[in-house]
Amino acid sequence: MAVYFGMLDALLAAEELPEEYKDRCQDILCNDCERKGTTRFHWLYHKCGTCGSYNTRVIRSETTTVPDCSTSS
Ligand SMILES: [Zn+2]
Repeated sequence: MAVYFGMLDALLAAEELPEEYKDRCQDILCNDCERKGTTRFHWLYHKCGTCGSYNTRVIRSETTTVPDCSTSS
């Protein structure tokens, strides 16, 4: 799975989100480490900030504008 997640990392890094989505965040729940977190808005892929897995689901779909929700931490 690590290879697959690395591929998604590259894909998301290369992808430019439209201006209106750039500052949006979504609350996610990770199926791997079972932690809740916040990640940058994306239609398909949501990365767990805790373990780096993409095996997550969105628990709050409406988006909020938060200045800093980057998954880079
Ligand atoms: Zn996780």
